[in-house]
Amino acid sequence: MNKKKIAWLLVLTMLLTVGISACKKTETPPESPSNEATKMEETAETGLKDGVYTGEATGYGGTVKSEVTVKDGKIADAKVVEHGETTMISDMAISEIPKRVVETQSLAVDGVSGCTVSSMAVKKSLEKALESAGADLKALKKEIVKEAVERKTEEKEADVVIIGAGGAGLSAAVSAYEHGAKSVIIVEKMPFIGGNTLRAGGAYNAADPEVQKAQGIEDSIEKHIEQTYEGGHKVGNLDLVTVMCTNALDGVHWLADMGLEWKEKIGSVVGSKWPRSHQTEKPLGTGYITVLGNKVKELGGEILLNTKASELIVEDGKVVGVKAEGIDTDYTIRGNKGVIMATGGYAGNPEMVREYLSDGVYTKENLPEKLVSTNHPGATGEGILMAQKIGADVIDMQHIQLLPMPGDRFGPSINVEDSFFINKEGKRYVKEDGGRDEICLATLAQTDGQYFMITDAQIVPENRKTLSGENLDVLIAKGIVVEADSVEDLAEKIGVPADALKETIDTFNGYVEKQEDPEFGRTVWGKKIEKAPFYATLRYPALHHTMGGLHINTEAQVLNKDGKVIPGLFAAGEVTGGIHGDNRLGGNAIADIIVFGRIAGESIMK
Ligand code: ADP
Repeated sequence: MNKKKIAWLLVLTMLLTVGISACKKTETPPESPSNEATKMEETAETGLKDGVYTGEATGYGGTVKSEVTVKDGKIADAKVVEHGETTMISDMAISEIPKRVVETQSLAVDGVSGCTVSSMAVKKSLEKALESAGADLKALKKEIVKEAVERKTEEKEADVVIIGAGGAGLSAAVSAYEHGAKSVIIVEKMPFIGGNTLRAGGAYNAADPEVQKAQGIEDSIEKHIEQTYEGGHKVGNLDLVTVMCTNALDGVHWLADMGLEWKEKIGSVVGSKWPRSHQTEKPLGTGYITVLGNKVKELGGEILLNTKASELIVEDGKVVGVKAEGIDTDYTIRGNKGVIMATGGYAGNPEMVREYLSDGVYTKENLPEKLVSTNHPGATGEGILMAQKIGADVIDMQHIQLLPMPGDRFGPSINVEDSFFINKEGKRYVKEDGGRDEICLATLAQTDGQYFMITDAQIVPENRKTLSGENLDVLIAKGIVVEADSVEDLAEKIGVPADALKETIDTFNGYVEKQEDPEFGRTVWGKKIEKAPFYATLRYPALHHTMGGLHINTEAQVLNKDGKVIPGLFAAGEVTGGIHGDNRLGGNAIADIIVFGRIAGESIMK
């Protein structure tokens, strides 16, 4: 049915089908002029004077600098010439917003959904440049009259249809090709691929005894299984847990074969309970999405961006496709082998989270009213609702996870061995290598529900890049990380009693020496905190992961309420439930999406 919905002509300029382009910082031209016009001819209609102008604004990763060329009183060109924004997450904002400003000759253009801070910085920097060009800013910001266009309908067909281009969906696509698929279509509602995976801390848990042994770490698949199951308080399904832990290392090698660069050192990301977290050389989850996205492109996979799946198509009890809405097109897409649901979780949808809360670690009573989410805006859970509509069962929906820090407050390190935590009284209050639930519940009981992560100069690499790829100096300038030359100075800067902090550090260093923590029972150790400068990062719990979701079996087939397989429907990643129990170990989400993404791609082709 042609719904003749209204779409906006303007957004047609956005890319509908893309691969990945690596975001390189563009170089500032050698003689980039400052806010001086090179030619000063005022044009009556626009107020703009011909010339080349630059403008700056502060983004997520520091200064965003744009350059605008005015010719014949019109905006002839606009581009970002310098920035420190996170690769991939900000790519669309960096490339598309200036283009739209030129196309529309206006500053009233939309930002890119999912990268608000970068979008705002790009727009502001362009505004500054245009202000220098003599623009009447009020006129340039006037709402654009958008032309309505008629919606089209289109039918498509592939062997495999996947909903969601995050880590699970992309892994499933590669795996489907590896197991014989000739064509794969991925439907992604956001303007870019990657989902939450892109902004995840990026740690991947896998017992890798050979590599770990070289670092003095003893580990095994059994230990990973045991810690995952017990970390989730035995709520998870042991068969699913076993499949994840057993296949995690193979996933590490699979990604390496695709070109993923792993860091040599195995770490212990917050809440992982054991040093088995593999980390990539690229910031956050960008390494995973880059290699997987490139592979999907190389294999010929089609990714429909800005396209939201709305309904599963069922024929004779079998899922055979999906209906989806693009910017100006309503799609009916048939999947000859079926559909893989990989839409991620719903921690970006606090209403849905609260609706299901009951008897988990967090309840309607103890979950703070005001909570930020680490999730991208697309994590709203409609994949679960779509599958429920056709009879899918859900499991563990009452279990959610808070992360002990919002996404912009990872600070100098996300690894447990690098730091310890204090409350606003300057005292330790929790074992830093405990579960995320333990840390968050203990934190919520502290003054203001906040804490400081304390660390020192020893973990700061020469290039001053943090583990999540941020520039430490930008974090310091923004006030997110506090740097001080002495413990006393640090205490004063963050407003905690200096004697208490000093005593806490001395006591903690004594524990490091003995590798024993009689107060809280910490077992993961790094170096003493003793080398100036010292660092403190204020942190607090944030909504992070939803452990509940579609009920699957070990073949990633979705089950109905009677425990029977729904033919043609598969699911992988955070959209599924049953693996992590009531508390997910830090670093297990990436293992989950890669392992079950691969299984879903294989199963659907069987
Ligand atoms: P996972 O870690 O399980 O792979 P992610 O959050 O990384 O989950 O990826 C899930 C992807 O699914 C996100 O990019 C999200 O925008 C996308 N998505 C969610 N709902 C829909 C939908 N209805 N249609 C298309 N894509 C969707």
